[in-house]
Order: sequence, then C-alpha cells, then structure tokens
Amino acid sequence: MVVESNSVLGGCATISGGILGIGGGNALQIKAGIYETADTLYSDMTRHVVNYTNVETKALGAPAVYSSPGTKTVPALARVFADRSLDTWNWLVAHGAKFSAATTSYANGTAVFWGTRAPSTTVADVVDPTGVGATHPQSTAGGAGWCNPMIAALKKMSNVDIELNTKMTQIIREAPLTGRVLGITAQAGGKTMYFRANRAVIVATGGYKGSPWLRFLFDPRVPATMTYSGTPFCYDDGTGLLAALNAGAAMMSDRNLDIHEWHRQWGTLYHVFSLGSAYATPGLSPSTADYIFVNSLGNRFMDESTPETSGWFFGDPPYSFYDYALDQHMTGPYGTPGVWTIMDSAAMTRENLNPSTWLGPPAQVDPNLVFSGATLGALETAINVPAGSLTATITKYNSYVAASPPADPDFGRPASLLTHQINTPPYYAVWCNLVLHDTAGCCTVNENGQVIDWNGNTIQSLYAAGEAAGGLDLIGMAKGVVMGRVCGENAAVAQSW
Ligand SMILES: Cc1cc2nc3c(=O)[nH]c(=O)nc-3n(C[C@H](O)[C@H](O)[C@H](O)COP(=O)(O)OP(=O)(O)OC[C@H]3O[C@@H](n4cnc5c(N)ncnc54)[C@H](O)[C@@H]3O)c2cc1C
Repeated sequence: MVVESNSVLGGCATISGGILGIGGGNALQIKAGIYETADTLYSDMTRHVVNYTNVETKALGAPAVYSSPGTKTVPALARVFADRSLDTWNWLVAHGAKFSAATTSYANGTAVFWGTRAPSTTVADVVDPTGVGATHPQSTAGGAGWCNPMIAALKKMSNVDIELNTKMTQIIREAPLTGRVLGITAQAGGKTMYFRANRAVIVATGGYKGSPWLRFLFDPRVPATMTYSGTPFCYDDGTGLLAALNAGAAMMSDRNLDIHEWHRQWGTLYHVFSLGSAYATPGLSPSTADYIFVNSLGNRFMDESTPETSGWFFGDPPYSFYDYALDQHMTGPYGTPGVWTIMDSAAMTRENLNPSTWLGPPAQVDPNLVFSGATLGALETAINVPAGSLTATITKYNSYVAASPPADPDFGRPASLLTHQINTPPYYAVWCNLVLHDTAGCCTVNENGQVIDWNGNTIQSLYAAGEAAGGLDLIGMAKGVVMGRVCGENAAVAQSW
C-alpha cells in the first residue's frame, strides 16, 4: 500500500531536473567512455579529502585536490549504495525509464553538488520522451523521464493499493517506544484512518524542508515563513519524519552543513516551474553582472558574486549568499525572507527581459514581487526603503564601475562584474526570495534501510529512505531510488504478524 499526501504520485522527483546520480558502470557510462565500478564509487563516497590525479577529470575542470564539506556518509551505507547502483539503474531502464546521456558531474567545467562523489561519479540526465502526463505540472522536468514509467508500472500491479490525499501522521508500535511497528495513522478528508502493516512501514516522505520546527533544530535562522522547493506542487512538511521520530527513530545528518542546499528565486516564491505552469510562475534568472542586492535600508551588504551555498569545495568562501541575506532580517511582500535586486532598463535589455510582457499571460513573474520606478526616488517609495538611500547606494556603485580600474572597496565585487553602471531609467526592484531546497538527513538507518532508535537498536518493521534518511551524503534522488529499493526488498520479506 502507498499512502501519499499529494493528489498525484512522484513527489519532488517528478518535477525535478532529472539529473540522477546513479552509475556504477551503466550502459550510458560505458558508451560515454566513463570508467566507474562499484568500488570506485564506494571509494569516492567515503573520501573526505579527495586527491584526483586522473587526467580526464582534470581536463573537465576539477581541481586536483579538494575537500568535501564534511561528509557524514556511513561507509556501510555507501557500500550498499555502490553495490546496488548498477542493478538499480538497469531495473529502472527495464521498467521504461529513459536517460539521455551520462556525464561526470564536472561536465561543462562547473562544480557541482555531489560532495565527495564528484569527479568520477556519473550523473545521467533523464528525458521524458512521452511529454507530460495530464497531472504533470511542468513540461520540461526531466525527472518525469524515470518517474512516469515507474508510476505506470506501479499502477499495473494488482496487489498495490494507492491512497492519495492521505497523510501519515503517526507510526503505531506495540508500545509507544518499544516493540514492532504495527501500522500507521493517517488523515484523509478530515477523517482519521488506521492502516495495519502486515510486514513493515517504509518512511519515504522526503526531507524536513517544510517543517519549521525540524529546520529550526538545524538552523535557527530559518524563519517559519521560508518557502521550500517542491511547493506549490509537493509539500514535504515533515509530518512523516515527526511520526518516525516520535516512534523512537534517532536523528542523523549526512553532512556538516546545517542545510544541504539553498536556492534563490527572482520574482517568484517557487523553484522551478516552467512558463505557463498551472502551479507557479518561473521568475527570472538574471546574471550577476546586471544587478546589485540591497537591504531594507537601501544599502548593499555583500559581494553579489558570493556563491548561493558555501562549503561545497576546497577554496569556497566561508560564508554564502544565504548567510549575508539572512543577516539582513528582511521579509518581502508575502512575509517570506529575501532581499531586493536592483536593475535598470539597460540591464533588462542585456538580459533579454521584457518588463512590458512579464506579467503575461503567461506570467513570468509574480506581480507582487516586482516593482519599477521612473526614477530611483520613485523606486525607493515603491519598495519602502528610506528616501535617498537607493540614490546614494547607486551613485557610489556607479563610481566603482567608473573607476580605473573598476574596484569595489566596500565588498570586493570582482572587477569583471563591475561592467555596467545602473543609470538607465526606468529602474526595477525584483524580490529575490530565499528558498530551502534540500535538508540534511533525518532518520538513522542501517544498511538494510531499517530505522535505528536512540539506543542503537533497530526498530522492528520500520524502514526509511530518500531524504527521510540520514548517513548518505548524496543530495537528490539517487539515494532514494537505490536505498528505497533496498528497503522495499527487505520489507517485502520481513516477518508478518
Ligand atoms: C524543482 C526541483 C528540482 C530538482 N532537481 C533534482 C535533480 O535534477 N536531481 C536530483 O537528484 N534531485 C533533484 N531534486 C531533488 C529531488 O527531487 C529530491 O531530493 C528527491 O525527490 C527526494 O526524494 P524523496 O522520495 O526522499 O522525497 P520526495 O520526492 O519529496 O517525495 C516525498 C513524498 O512524500 C509525500 N509525503 C510527505 N509527507 C507525507 C506524509 N506525512 N504522508 C504521506 N505522504 C507524504 C510527498 O507528497 C511526496 O510525494 C530537485 C527537487 C526539486 C523540487
């Protein structure tokens, strides 16, 4: 039985970008000439200081030596993930999942998000050859390429009962904190339902990115109003995790960062929907050269080129955009945290943005998150910053651009980004919304996916996988797919009652 709080299956994965980090020597890797085995994968996943001398990797732009940001991967979990990756990839393909190409995660020379796994691990970009299903919120989502076939296969199984719009709220054990797991309590349509689990319960309810309480425990700076990715399609509000924790599950992170990953969205609260989506507007993605950030006093507060998230790689700055932005303690038109992005019309032209059409239809931005002013004074009034503040900030910024050589003595914005003065009216203020993207682990599990309690004992008949589980420093779908399958196999043969 599948109990799903959403009205459709697939979770965040179905609207995701579809970059699936499962390799181990799959057919696409072989085709691309990428050498990877379960052993090299395991080795990558369990290193803390990575020293790559591989010529091919260097050519792709990877530094020879870098440190991971404090991975907390449990070797026994990494071993299972590595050993089961290839056959899981083949299993997906056998069920009709489509993958377009295999690349190392250093493709395009950009650094990336696989922690210690970076250079030799392969990511496969997934395509959705069938287009979108009727319920699918966005046409460009690659995650549908593997989710849709798997959902179709699940629906064909006559012995699977799928309960949609049904939220698990409690895990029932023989006694509150002891004994085997007997089933769950769920809420549907205002009713409380009880489901008996003959063999086991698998918690696969995503991370705690939508739980103000759980995320407060990890990073008290995150206000309750902060939006998180997946919404307004999929809400991982942490209820499933709280059910597991209340049943005795010990909590375990997967890296030293409090929050696994952040995103920022311009002119929308959400990450990431395509133009015309029924769920949300896509917003803008301006390049750093074309804007400055200001706070509620109309002042700049950082080098705008500071990375979104810090600590991925050796040499990363110690503080990220999020550290600086949260320090401003600003909330925007919807009460969510963020900062103002200031641009002029010349920047809009360079960015191929057309403010006269961005309100749609279809809308590219949320009308409550973008403001314009024929003068900087008018813009100050529109976004409620002190009179004269923006004017002073931009006069100073423009002088930094005009200097020879250009230099930003306040925050050290690189000269390569001091290329355009902000002086062509009308002027624009776009709300840059802070979005929480991935959290860092939760339920402690063993190599079978069984949940462990605070005394180190397994909780009989309780399993967890995906973002709901800790101990595997892999953001994204890969750990849920591989370890979720491991959980399913073990749960299927667990002792019934
Ligand atoms: C826009 C976007 C792009 C992304 N791109 C990528 C990418 O390219 N590559 C990548 O690897 N990862 C990507 N990710 C991250 C990836 O989608 C997630 O890490 C992954 O889907 C997590 O899988 P999961 O099964 O643990 O949780 P989810 O996919 O979030 O699924 C959890 C499910 O549980 C349901 N649920 C929650 N609580 C309850 C409850 N109490 N009772 C019943 N059901 C409940 C939810 O409705 C949801 O369907 C992206 C995420 C987003 C939002």
